[in-house]
Parts: sequence; structure tokens; C-alpha cells
Amino acid sequence: MTTQYLKANIDDVKDDIRSVCERLSMDASEVTLIGVTKTYEPEIINASIDYGITDIAENKVQEILRKFDEVKKGVRWHLIGHLQTNKVKYIIDKVDLIHSVDSVRLAEEIHKRAKQIGKIQDILIQINIADEEQKFGIKPSELDGLLEGISSLDHVRVCGLMNIAPFVDDPETLRGDFKQMHDLFNRLQHCAYANVNAKFLSMGMSGDYPVALEEGANMIRIGTKLYGQRQYNK
Ligand SMILES: *Cc1c(COP(=O)(O)O)cnc(C)c1O
Repeated sequence: MTTQYLKANIDDVKDDIRSVCERLSMDASEVTLIGVTKTYEPEIINASIDYGITDIAENKVQEILRKFDEVKKGVRWHLIGHLQTNKVKYIIDKVDLIHSVDSVRLAEEIHKRAKQIGKIQDILIQINIADEEQKFGIKPSELDGLLEGISSLDHVRVCGLMNIAPFVDDPETLRGDFKQMHDLFNRLQHCAYANVNAKFLSMGMSGDYPVALEEGANMIRIGTKLYGQRQYNK
């Protein structure tokens, strides 16, 4: 199996990160590039790790469980999809960062399961910044309430915010949403709630990451642009 294309894709995205960071006088090493590996097999994932991917993300609990033992150790695992409360127990010992927390109830379950294994679980709060219907995530106005609820859960640490931008033809149209996310992130960094240590602003995917980086993202989640078009019905 030839995986040379993976190396070229990873180098391309890293070059883009470097050039945006240069323009912004930012340190490129502060940006975490996450490879979104959903639908891809461990063989491909491991090849990408060999080419320098340090963080991988899945959007389904089942996919993490299926692949976990076959993927090289040392890589950081991210859960970026919706997480059902009853599935927290399966992944609590596996994931480094959960990007999709959007309720006190879910945070309470994460706290409970993390406590059982003596872990403090890093999480991000998912924001539905574009206020789209039927998408997960809270509204910006709900952030304080959620932080208040989490402030008594000392096995959970809020490390930042995440959003999933809608699919659009022109990523420029997302700039306003990204700016709003950055404003909210600044507020989070200066808030006084317990169990908050805001470091990561997770936004930017294959179609929009340069704009997201320009607006302050320091964690980008890239699938297609690294691994190629996904096939769901193999
Ligand atoms: C699939 C997915 C991505 C990656 O999308 P691409 O457009 O393939 O880069 C990023 N974030 C989330 C939450 C996803 O589900």
C-alpha cells in the first residue's frame, strides 16, 4: 500500500498553518493539527502517525473502540462527535479531549466516570454559534449556566470551545461566526468559574481552516484534506 499521498497532504496543511501563522506573527507550534480519521482504518491512521500526525479524532464512540488497540500508542485521541451519556463509560479511559460537551448532565456523567478511574477529563464546550436548527451545541447565552453547573465537578476541566461550521462554498462567509467564537473564548479565558483552564479554540475543517486560523483557532480538525474523500457505504 502506498501512503505517500498522506505525507504530501500533511505537509501541505502544515505549510498552510505556517504561512497563516507567519502573517499573524504567531508561533505555528501553538496550533494543534488533528487528523480526523473517521471511516479510515488503523493501517492508514498509523501511516499518518508515521508522517507526523500526533492527534487523531473520531466522531463515534464505536469507531474509537473498534480501532483503539490497533492504533499506535502515544497519539492523542479526541472525540469530536455527539456523545450520549450512556456511552461515556466506554471511552473515559481512552480519550484525551472531548470536544462535544453541551449539557450539565453529560458533564456530570463524565465527572462521575473520570472520578472512578482517578482522572481529570479535559473537555471543550460545543457552541452552536450559527444557531442552526438540529445541531448539537449550546447557544452563547447558555455558556455561563453550563460553566456554573460544571464548577462543582472537579474531575472535569473545561479547556476551551469548539464549533462545527456549516458547509458552505465560500469560507469567507464564516468569518463572522469565527470572530464571535473568538470573543466568547476570550470571555472564557477571563471568567472566574472553577474547573476552567481555557487553552483551546477548536474550529476549522478542510474547507475553512485558513479563515478559522486567521480568526484565532489554535486547534483544527482536518479529515478530507489529509486522508481523502470519505466513503461511508463500503
Ligand atoms: C468530519 C469532521 C471534521 C472533518 O471534516 P473535513 O471537512 O473532512 O475536514 C471535523 N470536525 C467534525 C466534528 C467532524 O465530524
